[in-house]
Amino acid sequence: SVKGKTAIITGSNSGIGLGIAEELAKAGAKVILNSFTDNEEDHALAERIGKAHGVEARYIKADMSKPDECRALVEQAGACDILVNNAGIQHVAGIEEFPNEKWDAIIAINLSSAFHTTAAALPIMRKSGWGRVINVASAHGLRASPFKSAYVAAKHGVVGLTKVTALETAQEPITANAICPGYVLTPLVEAQIPDTMKEYDMSREDVIKDVMLTRQPSKEFATVEQLGGTALYLCSDAAAQVTGTTISVDGGWTAM
Ligand code: NAD
Repeated sequence: SVKGKTAIITGSNSGIGLGIAEELAKAGAKVILNSFTDNEEDHALAERIGKAHGVEARYIKADMSKPDECRALVEQAGACDILVNNAGIQHVAGIEEFPNEKWDAIIAINLSSAFHTTAAALPIMRKSGWGRVINVASAHGLRASPFKSAYVAAKHGVVGLTKVTALETAQEPITANAICPGYVLTPLVEAQIPDTMKEYDMSREDVIKDVMLTRQPSKEFATVEQLGGTALYLCSDAAAQVTGTTISVDGGWTAM
């Protein structure tokens, strides 16, 4: 059970991270929410989740593009039984036009941050004698799409990092796994619809139906609650021997 355990969820003031935080809090975990902003709403969100589920909930600002801030997040949390590396951004453009700074930002936030937080969290998990590292990768950690070079490279990297983390902790009560969602209708997906419309010269409806959900045989978006449930499973005793692997929540995408 996650009751009383402390979970740090990076990039959790929105979308999947928030959904995972909410499900873990509902199950009794103390949650640390995070993003790179420090707004009243960020702290209010933590307060709302804490009150709703009767758990401690705190928001800590840390920019996951900065190695020092990744490590500081884990240190400031004071405990770390469950680390959910979820922060991520996307940019859609062909390789020749892909801006250097977007490439660097995506690799830093979507991949390198998970390395830095994991490096800071492992000693804490080893000391307490239990740990779960859950990396939110993507179907794009297992498959590719055109115009998403940095994202696909970063997510394949996350899957690789997950395997190494699992091997280095294999004989300890610590597991490391990656969740690979297909399309989930979050602000991140909403934001890439206009660029995808441009790349494919398609309407919004056609992008959703013929580009996004065409890869998802179920023809349905996955939900943040389902991803929260998957994270909760990975924290359970039933998943103690599940390590170094990926769990797809993608409506059948990677079956193709
Ligand atoms: P989102 O935009 O709603 O959430 C991304 C979160 O990351 C936000 O909380 C944002 O504030 C945070 N973030 C961005 N830059 C940050 C930074 N520099 N430092 C700290 N936090 C930062 O998007 P989402 O869809 O919920 O994405 C969450 C994760 O799920 C990402 O890693 C994404 O790649 C992955 N994912 C999403 C989908 C999908 O269809 N939505 C599919 C597969 C994987």
